[in-house]
Amino acid sequence: MSPIELNKRQEEILEIVKGNGPITGEQIAERLSLTRATLRPDLAILTMAGYLDARPRVGYFYSGKKTGQAVIDSMMNMKVKDFQSIPVVVSENISVYDAICQMFLEDVGTLFVVDKNAYLTGVLSRKDLLRTSIGNQDLNHIPVHIIMTRMPNIAFCMKTDGLIQAAQKLIERQIDALPVVLEHPDGYEVIGRLTKTNITRAFLSLADNHDL
Ligand code: ADP
Repeated sequence: MSPIELNKRQEEILEIVKGNGPITGEQIAERLSLTRATLRPDLAILTMAGYLDARPRVGYFYSGKKTGQAVIDSMMNMKVKDFQSIPVVVSENISVYDAICQMFLEDVGTLFVVDKNAYLTGVLSRKDLLRTSIGNQDLNHIPVHIIMTRMPNIAFCMKTDGLIQAAQKLIERQIDALPVVLEHPDGYEVIGRLTKTNITRAFLSLADNHDL
């Protein structure tokens, strides 16, 4: 299902009908200096999509987009870049102890691990660090690359991806966060972090924007 994107002329028709309805197709055409025949496909689309109602011998009037459709359209237009957070990255050689400190300091639940070229190589979650901490090991001497989940097993997304697709990845892989990456010829640069909290924010913004 894809949202209906109105073209410029269809937007103009909507404005005319909003301000002047009920109004006949002839009158709309006159205002736009077009023929009735030229407008026919646009009027058909606007009527079928529920923006306009047409009554025989009366003309077109604005019905307003149905809330359900408007919510669906907004949801399908939500992009990762509109809701992503700043990523927290650490280098592969820092110790598990330092990674734990970093997690507390930055107040995040997932750290992304990068190599010397700043390309993504791993992910560290809270439980990865906890698991290592309950062993009888010196956390200062274990580098994070030993315990992280590593490429190519990392689920990630791009900033232009739809938020729904990103949410699907979080659920399917049972993880809390996705790195938002920019693809380079020899690796992925981490440019953002998309978490379940971001998805919850998006959900709330839908409710706010549509007065739900
Ligand atoms: P936690 O383990 O704290 O509940 P997650 O559910 O995010 O947090 O992580 C579960 C496991 O999945 C961990 O081992 C973690 O390294 C791994 N993981 C987390 N994020 C990703 C990701 N984007 N891609 C692949 N694996 C991930």
